[in-house]
Amino acid sequence: MKNLKLSIATIAVASLLSACTSQYATEKHEQLKLQNQAALGIVWMQQSGEYQALAHQAFNTAKTAFDQAKKTKGKKKAVVVDLDETMMDNSAYAGWQVKNGEDFTQETWTKWVNARQTAAIPGAVEFANYVNNHGGTMFYVSNRLENGERQGTIDDMARLGFPGVSEKTLILKDGKSAKSARYKTITDQGYDIVVYVGDNLNDFGDATYRKPNAERRDFVAQNAKQFGTKYIVLPNPNYGDWEGGLDSNYYKGDVKNKVDIRLNSIKAWDGK
Ligand SMILES: [Mg+2]
Repeated sequence: MKNLKLSIATIAVASLLSACTSQYATEKHEQLKLQNQAALGIVWMQQSGEYQALAHQAFNTAKTAFDQAKKTKGKKKAVVVDLDETMMDNSAYAGWQVKNGEDFTQETWTKWVNARQTAAIPGAVEFANYVNNHGGTMFYVSNRLENGERQGTIDDMARLGFPGVSEKTLILKDGKSAKSARYKTITDQGYDIVVYVGDNLNDFGDATYRKPNAERRDFVAQNAKQFGTKYIVLPNPNYGDWEGGLDSNYYKGDVKNKVDIRLNSIKAWDGK
């Protein structure tokens, strides 16, 4: 009897373990499929001349915008740039996600930052040097974390040749992701921010912060003339706040929920 009870318990544990393993395998498989949807965008960023041309186009435009901008009298000219996928290329982290079916997590991102393998976006270092050598001040305002990601960021920026990186000009996240409060600390020091460069509409102020894509598109329509003169955008097909902007429940469900929301967002010809 005792042996029978033991056997039943062993079978129960074994089937529970097997159920957990197969559930893990299913979830991992779904995550691999989800991450794999990013493959073409990442390959495009890493391999195409077109991506590099767009980056140069953005920084050439930013340079012209900086040169032509008239600062307010008595103020100092400043340029604000985002870092990730604006000045710094983290596509190898994205490549790791695709190849291993790994979702973004703060833990793996911090590990990536501290691996110090970020590359420079084409034209970014030259633009930053141009601004600092022509009467402007570069401010690097990023949502990399002040706590745990600052030194890795400073080391990579030094290795890549970004100028003027200091306690004052490198402003990381130490609270809110929305950036306008940090921009105010710059203008409060007597600077006129004449150009903003980013890969996310939230890099141009808080109007689009946590807003659905319809409102994000409205912001673009209302500010259409500012793009190329005050706001300079770098292409990033891999991630951004537009992804959460697809649906208010996007980050609330499981992997299948994300896949479904993505598919349902696609406008498609019926084939007839
Ligand atoms: Mg960015």
